[in-house]
Amino acid sequence: MTTSTRPAAIERSALAPGAMRGALAAVEPRAAADPGAIRVVRAPGRVNLIGEHTDYNLGLVLPAAIDLEIRIAFVPTDDRRVELVSGGTGERAGFDLDAIGPRRGAWIDYVAGTAWALADAGIATRGLRGIIVSSLPTASGLSSSAALELASAWALADEPGGGVAPIELARTCQRAENAYVGVNCGLMDQFASACGVAGDAVLLDCRSLEFRPIALPLATHTLVVIHTGSTRSLTTSQYNVRRAQCEAAAAALATSDPAIQSLRDVTPAMLPRIRDLVGDDAFRRSRHVVTENERVADTIEALATGDIAALGRLWAASHASLRDDFEVVSPELDALVEIASAVPGVAASRMTGAGFGGCTINLVERGAVSDLRTAVDARYRARTGLQPRVYAVDAVDGAGIVAG
Ligand code: ADP
Ligand code: MG
Repeated sequence: MTTSTRPAAIERSALAPGAMRGALAAVEPRAAADPGAIRVVRAPGRVNLIGEHTDYNLGLVLPAAIDLEIRIAFVPTDDRRVELVSGGTGERAGFDLDAIGPRRGAWIDYVAGTAWALADAGIATRGLRGIIVSSLPTASGLSSSAALELASAWALADEPGGGVAPIELARTCQRAENAYVGVNCGLMDQFASACGVAGDAVLLDCRSLEFRPIALPLATHTLVVIHTGSTRSLTTSQYNVRRAQCEAAAAALATSDPAIQSLRDVTPAMLPRIRDLVGDDAFRRSRHVVTENERVADTIEALATGDIAALGRLWAASHASLRDDFEVVSPELDALVEIASAVPGVAASRMTGAGFGGCTINLVERGAVSDLRTAVDARYRARTGLQPRVYAVDAVDGAGIVAG
């Protein structure tokens, strides 16, 4: 058996509030002494349906929050001390809210950075003792970092969600990742984890920060995430190179047209000018971003009219553009898309997230999910030597408190 439709049952059941309370009580005497004080918060991972590498170019993205998520069970304390156990490894780490200090180069940075960013935004925080439990694969392009930040924000903030709009909390968590952890990501991941809507994708305009839910054809289709079995490599350095190339192209155009502040302001008709101003690499990066924004708008149209065939063509074009122009598609991602696209009933397939490994997203007719699984089982491992994982996922609400 090389794939599973869901995370292993033991992982899923470990996220149940009762199980999390028990796990916390086992490692934290305060929780054992006062089980009634235990709170549980959650924050989902995300898939991006289309609009890749557009967020930091102030363009359009269409993510959905998914039911693979991070939960934190905790007891609030008044000692300004944060201590957490990572349920996956049993590793314990912590910090003082009044002396957070610099990043350490470890997972606790995502929590400490969130505490720092909350305080910097004037949001009151509290100490806690807690345990993190996750069903979300890490470093796989499903945004476990953003989910950890949002779950941390909900646990650390005195008021529910910090008493601010979810998109504001997302921006605070993005700041944690940018300025404290040191990853120069756009807003999409934190936005999706904060503002997800059950059953829908959410369109975000990264320039105006306007967003709205977009209905998905889930009566007839299922979202299927397929993990290549390879964690992302070279991501941070390559990501930064891509980002710099996009910024350089926009800056080159701005010398003759000051209205251009980012690639969002560039239309397809302006692309030939970029070709004259910058090198071939920066031109192709720009062409991806400019055409990808158009594909997001066209995907919204296709979803509104129920044109599933057009959706398939748009996702295929997005994947090809990410492979040929943006050059972030690994051979494994390409193999998964090729295998999936050949399965009748797979309506659309493309890589999702930053690329260089990680996952694909597929829109699959409900009756064809098992055929897709069979095809991946039969062909992917033989071709790559890697173990894939297949997750049928639901679109869920953004981060919050878990009742019960
Ligand atoms: P992605 O966001 O695509 O999953 P990143 O490299 O941005 O990948 O973030 C992954 C990092 O987030 C991990 O290396 C770890 O530091 C942190 N992280 C994610 N999930 C957990 C968890 N359950 N417990 C502790 N740290 C986690
Ligand atoms: Mg991340």
